[in-house]
Amino acid sequence: MHPRLTVVDHPLVARHLAVLRDRATDSATFRHTLSDVSMLLLYEALRDLRVREEPVPTPLEDAPAHRLADDIVVVAIMRAGLGMVDGALRLVPEARVGHLGMFRDETALRPVGYYESLPPHLPGSEVVVADPMLATGGSAVAALTRVRELGARRLRFVCLVAAPEGVRALAEAHPDVPMTCAAVDDRLDERGYIRPGLGDAGDRLYGTT
Ligand code: URA
Repeated sequence: MHPRLTVVDHPLVARHLAVLRDRATDSATFRHTLSDVSMLLLYEALRDLRVREEPVPTPLEDAPAHRLADDIVVVAIMRAGLGMVDGALRLVPEARVGHLGMFRDETALRPVGYYESLPPHLPGSEVVVADPMLATGGSAVAALTRVRELGARRLRFVCLVAAPEGVRALAEAHPDVPMTCAAVDDRLDERGYIRPGLGDAGDRLYGTT
């Protein structure tokens, strides 16, 4: 379905996903659970980050050590991608954060950009585009295309739940970009919701239903 797809198979990720899927989960629990599972997903997605050797002085003597070789930029696709930023920053506190505002035209089911704030130096950075729900893939494809236009070369995409349609769209548009998720669900319904999914992630994060 995608040459570089990783579906994270881990009991703790599965446990968090169950909480997020559950309709009885309130917004506060949804927010902190999404933040926590984002850490776990990014941990996997960033497994092959480049490092440089840099010894550190312990209280006793120098020890061999590694630092991250590249700057990390996390680009959240708004709105729901905001729910992954806090977890990403707990994992990589020095990361810089970009925002791409896109809403879905509910008739055409296409992304419409309304906001862009991206840090400079994308060409020299590891850029992780984050959105919990990969539905049609329209927003993710548009976001990756945009950061590529600005010179980003080392790219990854991280989501929580993907629809097969979205995975295929990403594979077609950006086959070289590794994608990491917790689950690939069954299908998209006629309203563009992932089934079984977890509903509208933005609404559940911010209590807007
Ligand atoms: N966005 C969501 O938040 N949920 C879906 O099921 C699809 C897109």
